[in-house]
Formats: sequence, C-alpha cells, structure tokens
Amino acid sequence: MQQIYDDIRGDFRYDNELNGCLNCGICTATCPAAHFYDYSPREIVQLLWTENVEQIYDAMQEKIWACAQCMTCAARCPFKNSPGGLVAIMREVAIKHEMQSAKDVLRPFGRVMLKLITTGNQLSPDMIQPDHFPDWGPNIQKVEGDLTVLRKAIPVKTLQTVETAWEVSLKTSVEMYTIWEMTGVLKSLELMDENLFDVIDDFIDEKREEYDEWLEEQEDDD
Ligand code: SF4
Ligand code: SF4
Repeated sequence: MQQIYDDIRGDFRYDNELNGCLNCGICTATCPAAHFYDYSPREIVQLLWTENVEQIYDAMQEKIWACAQCMTCAARCPFKNSPGGLVAIMREVAIKHEMQSAKDVLRPFGRVMLKLITTGNQLSPDMIQPDHFPDWGPNIQKVEGDLTVLRKAIPVKTLQTVETAWEVSLKTSVEMYTIWEMTGVLKSLELMDENLFDVIDDFIDEKREEYDEWLEEQEDDD
C-alpha cells in the first residue's frame, strides 16, 4: 500500500498537478462524473494532499475509474490543481501494480485495443450493422446498402475503406508500434492481459518483418 502511494507521489507530474487544496469543491461542482457516480475530485485531491495512504488505496479500487478525463476540473481549480491529471497518475500506478480494479475496468476494452493495434483504427464502417444499433430506430436504414460503393463515393482516397475507418500505411503502423513500446503502452497491456499481449506481440513482429522486407525490396530496386 505504501509503495503504491510512493509511486503516485514519485511521478514526475505530481508536483505540477497538486499545489494545495482549499477544499472549496469547485472541481466537484463542475465534474460530469460526480453527477452520475459516487465520485468526487475534491475528495481525491484531499486524500492525496493529506497523504491518507489507506483511503487512497480504497479510492483506487473503484472511484478513480469513474473520471472521464475531460479536465474541466483543471481549468476551474483556483489552486491550479489537476484532479483529472492526478487520477491519470493513480490509474497508471494501479496498472503498474496489476491491481484487480484496473484489470476489471480495462478488460472490456481488449477488443478495441486489438482492433486499434492491428488496423490503426478503433472503429470501421463494416462494424455499423443494423442489427447492432436498434436504438438508432429507422435512421439505421441510411447506412444500409453496399458499403464498398458508398465508401468509394468519398473523394479522399484513404477513406475509401470498409474494414478500417481509413487506410494506415505499413510505415505508419510500424512507427506506432515503436511509440507504444517506448511510452510503456505495450508493457501496461502485458501487465493487464497477458494473452491479449501475446497475440498483439506476434502480430507486431510479423508486421515489422513485413516492413523490413519491403525496405530491402526498395533498396534492391534502387
Ligand atoms: S477530469 Fe475527471 S475529475 Fe476532472 S472534471 Fe473531468 S471527470 Fe471530473
Ligand atoms: S482541487 Fe481545487 S477546486 Fe477542487 S476542492 Fe481543491 S482547491 Fe477546490
């Protein structure tokens, strides 16, 4: 528990995000998450400011996952605190310590992560199927039809895709893998879901090999 607090406190952003707290509640009054959940940014800031290690740990079980990361609080706080920024640090530390709350919250995003890493897109036109959107009512009929033809009508060539929202080149994909690797995204994924990480890791290796082969071919052509 103490190590978790020390990791939060030791984050390089911490001193910038927390400068004191008047306990005025402006952050909570403007926080959209506080309107819908048992969550208060004022409470989170107070726990950190008073170094209440036990209750910080309790808040990391559930409350911190309610924040929408909209940063309205940061724009309003008279002390220039960023409760949302502090929550981001707490979440990253929860992942680092493989807390069950982090695994439970992030599990449903596994499919999105897989789609994003393997295609460079989170969503794609072919995901919009009438059966999946009953709440759209009759409006869903507007997207029915031959998707390939509809997408071909878009003037921008990189958007004439069906299985991805837009075309992502192999070079861009490989660059994204490097960014995710160097910023710790892939490491976090490994801590949260080892099976998903293995699938994605194999995929990345294949794509990197494909890219190296493409580069060699270019050199041969020159
Ligand atoms: S960033 Fe989080 S804590 Fe801040 S206002 Fe948005 S939802 Fe609330
Ligand atoms: S974090 Fe800022 S806005 Fe929120 S209670 Fe403290 S001083 Fe007020």
